[in-house]
Amino acid sequence: MKKLSCRESGFDCDYTIEGYTDEEIFRNGEKNVFNKHGMKKEEFTPHFNEKLRSRIKDT
Ligand SMILES: [Zn+2]
Repeated sequence: MKKLSCRESGFDCDYTIEGYTDEEIFRNGEKNVFNKHGMKKEEFTPHFNEKLRSRIKDT
């Protein structure tokens, strides 16, 4: 299982995204990030995605 903390990603939010693969994390996280943080799809630049990916932890 992998986890990504919203707060550690720079958001003021206690949500933790869980998934079995990085791709699942991104899919599960999109809803939270788009709805709660008002981010837009085009803000997910390759650079931003890499930053998020580096914060995914294996549990
Ligand atoms: Zn969040």
